[in-house]
Amino acid sequence: MTTAADRFATEGFGPQNLPYASFSTAGGAPRLGVRLGERAIDVNALATALDTTGPVLPEGLHTAVSAPDLDVLLAAGREAWTALRAWLVEVVTTDGAAEAVERASHPVEEVRLHMPFTVADYVDYYASEHHASNVGRMFRPDQAPLLPNWKRLPVGYHGRAGTVIPSGQDFPRPKGLRPEQDGTPSFGPSRRLDIEAEIGFVLGGSAPAGEVSVARAAAEHLFGVVLFNDWSARDIQAYEYVPLGPYLGKSFASSISLWVVPWEALAAARVAPPAREHELAPYLDDSSGGPWGLDITMEVVLDGQAVSHPPVRTMYWTAPQMVAHMTVNGASLRPGDFFGSGTVSGPEADQRGSFLELSWGGKEPFTLADGTEMSFLEDGQTVTLKGTAPGPDGSVIDFGECTATVLPAT
Ligand code: MN
Repeated sequence: MTTAADRFATEGFGPQNLPYASFSTAGGAPRLGVRLGERAIDVNALATALDTTGPVLPEGLHTAVSAPDLDVLLAAGREAWTALRAWLVEVVTTDGAAEAVERASHPVEEVRLHMPFTVADYVDYYASEHHASNVGRMFRPDQAPLLPNWKRLPVGYHGRAGTVIPSGQDFPRPKGLRPEQDGTPSFGPSRRLDIEAEIGFVLGGSAPAGEVSVARAAAEHLFGVVLFNDWSARDIQAYEYVPLGPYLGKSFASSISLWVVPWEALAAARVAPPAREHELAPYLDDSSGGPWGLDITMEVVLDGQAVSHPPVRTMYWTAPQMVAHMTVNGASLRPGDFFGSGTVSGPEADQRGSFLELSWGGKEPFTLADGTEMSFLEDGQTVTLKGTAPGPDGSVIDFGECTATVLPAT
């Protein structure tokens, strides 16, 4: 007897990971999937197949697993998430269920992935000290790299939920007003199109009155983690952002990876965040119950060539702190809320998560393997984010890919 994990698990997609997706096969409707190795398992079909032989899907989960995506599960809350994951782990590690897993699954290269959940509200943060310092040095060379608020609260802004797009969806170069030397902006396609290599956090459960504590954020609301590319038009952004912050330079497209790694799968990847420079306001104090940093290593791939390896463990602010911050004023939290970490940049030059930093504002273009000089993105270029984290017992948690190609402006 062998288990489904024995037969199908690969490094990165073993029983320690089991990320969720919404997938369809040719002609079929989207359904909730979970990944084991190179198989996309139809969760509802699996539950049906095991209904008489077991392991039997726990009571109360049938509506969530028969949904086309994660929306029903996100609303159901942590107890349901834990029960479903425990059942899936049991199924794929139980002798005798491998046949049912095989029959209920499809090779991942034969399925089409869809948005895994409906994005409710979307927030983007700015939580990397190295990124914020690099940007400060470039744009405010005569001042301290970090503004005075940066280590007091996680700086962020509300973004556009409707233009969070699935990995694999290409988009045209955005147009807008670009700054010019003579002070009069010109309208046209962005000349400084960039990426932001980020981690995205998917939230579930509800907090209608907000005020979610750090501890409750981790225990009740953090559902899963994806790779996130917050494409940015630096010229449009530079002209428009004063005094109210990022707007059209960001809102044209933001790509997410489509296998949502469960928060529980990252238990072995939790690390202490950097030492705090100031005592934090009580609602941001994450010194107990954690640590809440995540040891995820990302890879930025441009047209097949790795150009950077941003380390998420260096992020100053942690996910539970960012949830606490977005709700401390009484703002509600609802299922499908989503937030980005901000560009992940480490201390080293080859750990920077944007081309703005990699080319130092375009002043120091870097050379690709084929000899071409690179600063900002050209039409036809493809950027792919990858990510891995340590799992339990030496295993690896793989995030899959977040990819898109820049199309010419319309
Ligand atoms: Mn961003």
